[in-house]
Amino acid sequence: MGLCPFHSEKTPSFHVNPQRGIFHCFGCGLGGNVFSFVMKREGIPFPEAVRMMADRYGITIPEPEMSPSAKRVESERETLFSVNKIAMGYFRNILFESPQGEVARNYLKNRGINGAIADTFDLGYVPEGWDHLVRFLDTQKVPRGVAEKSGLIVTKNKERYYDRFRNRIIFPILDLSRRVIGFGGRVLDDSLPKYLNSPETPIYNKSKSLYGFGKTKQACRQAGTVHIVEGYFDLLSLYMCGVEHVVATLGTAITQDHVRMLSRGGVKRFVLVYDSDDAGIKAAERSIPVFQKEFISANILVLPKGHDPDSFIREFGAEQFLNASTKAMGIIPFLLETAVKQYGLSIEGRIRIIEAMKEPLQVVGDPIARSLYIRELSHRIGVDEKAVIEKIKEQSDGPIRIPAISQAVPGNKTAPRQSRYSEMEKQIVSMMLQFPEIISECRDSQVVDYLESESLKALGRKILDYQGEPEDMASVLIAQSATDRERQMISSLAIGDIPWLHKNCVNLIHHYMGNRKKNEDSLSEQIRMAEESKDHELLLKLMHEKNNYSKLMKKKVHTRKR
Ligand SMILES: [Zn+2]
Repeated sequence: MGLCPFHSEKTPSFHVNPQRGIFHCFGCGLGGNVFSFVMKREGIPFPEAVRMMADRYGITIPEPEMSPSAKRVESERETLFSVNKIAMGYFRNILFESPQGEVARNYLKNRGINGAIADTFDLGYVPEGWDHLVRFLDTQKVPRGVAEKSGLIVTKNKERYYDRFRNRIIFPILDLSRRVIGFGGRVLDDSLPKYLNSPETPIYNKSKSLYGFGKTKQACRQAGTVHIVEGYFDLLSLYMCGVEHVVATLGTAITQDHVRMLSRGGVKRFVLVYDSDDAGIKAAERSIPVFQKEFISANILVLPKGHDPDSFIREFGAEQFLNASTKAMGIIPFLLETAVKQYGLSIEGRIRIIEAMKEPLQVVGDPIARSLYIRELSHRIGVDEKAVIEKIKEQSDGPIRIPAISQAVPGNKTAPRQSRYSEMEKQIVSMMLQFPEIISECRDSQVVDYLESESLKALGRKILDYQGEPEDMASVLIAQSATDRERQMISSLAIGDIPWLHKNCVNLIHHYMGNRKKNEDSLSEQIRMAEESKDHELLLKLMHEKNNYSKLMKKKVHTRKR
């Protein structure tokens, strides 16, 4: 057990079970086998994780035997990477070598971007015209369909193809392995849209990509801090002036994936940089839940009026920028101060401040952090802490109650009953994963068929079907899972190290089955009551349930006889 490498924590909640080859963190919920660990830790896909581990332990990997569909996906991705690389070279060449690039070179010079930076970030240019790239890719024998899939060229009727990026400075977007996943393009004048990005493709997803991080990850790790800006030029200017621990979001608010990617890269302190209070407030409010879920706090740096990061650092220099960055406030204090600035401390103003702080405070999941913030708020505006807490609570019931009502549609009336069993069901499947000696008992009693939770039932069936070495079971099942959710469910259930006793396990199964049978009796009772109260909807629902139940029982008797 130790401190989790995937979220920041002070008391260990990260568990590893070396025999089973799995890990699980009860703080952030991440879990999996040794390969999931390497993939998450290094931010690399599965094949690379396998290669890395094989290298480390001197294992030769046989030629991969991928399924045809997996092969197709993998080779499609590889193809798109190489098309993008070809295009990047083409754009770059025009910017640096061609007479047509002169206008773009001048533009960059005027914006203060020197050749070295343009070179480091592989900037490029594509001149005015409909099909420069289309024709170039033809000469490179890139099929039109592939080029279209990369988002670099577009067509309406498959007859005429034209370039997506026309008369624009090109910013290649790289992943952490420095492969080109997409592009951004900016016009040289005031025409619109000012910025244009690649569409989502099999290799480009803007909510999972950060501009510049491929180049700046070293600096971010060293500083332990990252500045998150919104524009390509903001990033280039900061980098050029020596603030190299910087990334830019690509036309989207910061996402959970961004935050994870950065904290995996060793970032501890997040500074969101905005050019106005308004933008800062909006972003701050939106990003609270994103950072909260990762148990990370973030800071907001709003630059003086009229400045963006680009203009600020050129006028005041790196030292002043870093100075301001060190003083950047946490999200909640920032919201509090802007509310104070906006509403003032009159009675009326203070009421509005509490009103404005309700929702942000409600989103803070960590109860200690929340109570500290509430204390700060009540001190700042001179209102009794208890009164503030009352007010915040008032709001907190709202959003929680709404989904509960919408769930209460017919067909969900048994929901409370489900939760009564869920702990026991988890225990049963957990025991199957950790104490394989009990599996034959589970098979005989057919307890898995009785599980109400569909996901636990599915997992239980996989365990019954498993044929390999018992101690590899958790890791193998994790490897076979399709989703993170599934993997994390398995790792959380399999991670424990409880010395199971055969007798206790058998008791648990019998106890559970006994309860389920009582459930049948209570079903009959409920049916009788529904009949009396003439609740036809509920009656139908209960009859249906009972029917399912007897089918299950019959099946059991039947198989037993066999
Ligand atoms: Zn964790």
